[in-house]
Amino acid sequence: MNTTSYHTHTRLCRHASGNPVDYVRAAVREGCAGLGISDHCPYPDGTWAGSRMAVSDIPEYLSLVKVAREEASFPFFWGFECEWAPEYDSWYRDYLVGEIGAQYLVYGAHWVRIDGNFHYVPEVSDPGMLGRYVDMTVKGLSSGLYSIFAHPDIFLAGYTSMTADVRAACRDIIEAAIACNVWMEVNGLGMIKDKVQTPAGLRYGYPVREFWQMAAEAGAAIMCNSDAHAPEQVLSGARLARDFSRQAGIEPSLPLSVERPSRNPR
Ligand SMILES: [Zn+2]
Ligand SMILES: [Zn+2]
Repeated sequence: MNTTSYHTHTRLCRHASGNPVDYVRAAVREGCAGLGISDHCPYPDGTWAGSRMAVSDIPEYLSLVKVAREEASFPFFWGFECEWAPEYDSWYRDYLVGEIGAQYLVYGAHWVRIDGNFHYVPEVSDPGMLGRYVDMTVKGLSSGLYSIFAHPDIFLAGYTSMTADVRAACRDIIEAAIACNVWMEVNGLGMIKDKVQTPAGLRYGYPVREFWQMAAEAGAAIMCNSDAHAPEQVLSGARLARDFSRQAGIEPSLPLSVERPSRNPR
């Protein structure tokens, strides 16, 4: 089987299980064409300490991905999934990539900060906060740090009506991802979470069909990832995401590396 997934967590983030080698072994069994380990990065100030690895876990992470690489019979990459905030730019660029050699960064926008407080994106539904999320994600994409934008439609778990403003937000995010040459990820983890009630009926919080149809129409580079938090999920989510895409009339790419998408004007 020909499946890739470049979005994978490990026990080090404190809310997933398994070591990188466990994911590799599961992926070998399932027929993998390319795998990336992208655990939630640590933050130098200890932000989100309960659900992220600590800075002191980095040496262990490095040795675990090294062991995993030796068992991988397919292209294998390692990096981190990171939130965006300007104060972390140098931490990501100079330390995670520059110094310890992370091969790629995934942009995962889970929190939006307003007046010093963090709000969990899938639970935000206030129309007045939509612009903040769009602004943050566009700046994050423009940083040039990331090659993959994880679950770019995660905010639609909270914004459940496709109003003109919500559609404009989708468009702005999609256009930024295209302009910054970043992969957009259809995320399979969202498909095993509880569905959300919307005026048009029950649907996944994410992925959201309208969003992906807009992205495909605009010519975005689309990949499918599992966002696995347990070894048995290593490729199943990516397969679910692919089925979802095809049902929406979209054929996602199957890149064999984590490099930025090659520019392919359509
Ligand atoms: Zn996670
Ligand atoms: Zn993730």
